[in-house]
Amino acid sequence: MYRLAVAQLDSCAEQMGLDSNVWERLRTPQRAHVVSFPFRRDDYDTVETVFGYRVQHLLTMGPTKGGIRYDVDVDLGEVTALAIWMTWKCAIMELPFGGAKGGVRIDPRALSRSEVQRITRRFTSEIIPVIGPDRDIPAPDLGTDQQVMAWIMDTYSQQKGYAVPGVVTGKPIQLGGSEGRSEATGRGVIICASEACREYGLHFPESRVVVQGFGNVGRAAAELADERGARVVAISDVGGGVYNANGLDLEALASWSDEHGELQGFPGADGVTNHEILELPCDILIPAAIQNQITELNAHELDCKLVVEGANGPTTLEADAILADRGIIVVPDILANAGGVTVSYFEWVQGLAQFFWSEQEVNEKLERLMVKAFQAVHYMAKERGVSLRSAAMMLGVERVKEAKRTRGVFP
Ligand code: GLU
Repeated sequence: MYRLAVAQLDSCAEQMGLDSNVWERLRTPQRAHVVSFPFRRDDYDTVETVFGYRVQHLLTMGPTKGGIRYDVDVDLGEVTALAIWMTWKCAIMELPFGGAKGGVRIDPRALSRSEVQRITRRFTSEIIPVIGPDRDIPAPDLGTDQQVMAWIMDTYSQQKGYAVPGVVTGKPIQLGGSEGRSEATGRGVIICASEACREYGLHFPESRVVVQGFGNVGRAAAELADERGARVVAISDVGGGVYNANGLDLEALASWSDEHGELQGFPGADGVTNHEILELPCDILIPAAIQNQITELNAHELDCKLVVEGANGPTTLEADAILADRGIIVVPDILANAGGVTVSYFEWVQGLAQFFWSEQEVNEKLERLMVKAFQAVHYMAKERGVSLRSAAMMLGVERVKEAKRTRGVFP
């Protein structure tokens, strides 16, 4: 993933003729904090050594910002790539943050809630020196949620001796979380999908949508697509998915999943694997699960007009080129899934002001910023004759470059 993030930067830097000093500087993160710590399992006798990371890519424009993920594949390269992408996301959305990301290399599904709580508290105490409301602000990502944010906030606050809600975003509402934050990434994905439909001659309310992923992003994206009149024909979770060409009843599907813990077996739909789902005929494909899903092995088989990336890094570099050749438009992750960090920014601002907004206000502000960012990227793509991904990168890199140039080099 790190190689993918750097290759994307290199290709963008080349296309835009980026100053080589800045180019070189942006290829590596400014700070990387690697920790290992002991973790006691519920049986008390087993103590495992666990690895954790917090990478801060760019400290030029303000505090750093980005999620913390719990996943077995987490390593320094992956977290660094994700931190780099956060930098572009924040710059595209004009948020006063640089990119960061953190992660712990564990499988959260194999742990009890109390084990997840212990890991979270110990990991937080390991990274306390590098995080803080004006330093680096974590948020949820793959395998973490509001409750994990609450434990981080509590652990940090215990150490400081007073409540510091601003140390994380994506918190529960009662601790200073923002209305609309939990659906924000999915909402941003659907706003981008609608805008892309308008620009590329599709009609969103009549489109067929396939969503890979039924986590925070996929679920909200599917529900919102349905609300806006599109037909969600397939959706999957980690175990596999369900497909009905006439459209899925999302309410019934959500109750089924809540009751059975999985989507599979849902009556009135055919079962599909997480690979098959990507090749189903549709207008809009939303990969909203994990990285590396659309590769050179399946990019030729995709049967959609538009890919809107809800996940981070779902498309490899080779697949990107194949999709471009085939005329399939890709709305890149750094634009499409930036709704999450945007409402995180709203949460941070509301916390600083101690003045909280209604859900409608949050959603309206998000819509305005997402549409503006989409239009800026789309305009740049047309003007320079490049893909939306290249245009999004150029816009992000250009803003970062300007900030770096204005601050200058110390000493
Ligand atoms: N983890 C999310 C992302 O990848 C959100 C980060 C945040 O809200 O700071 O964009």
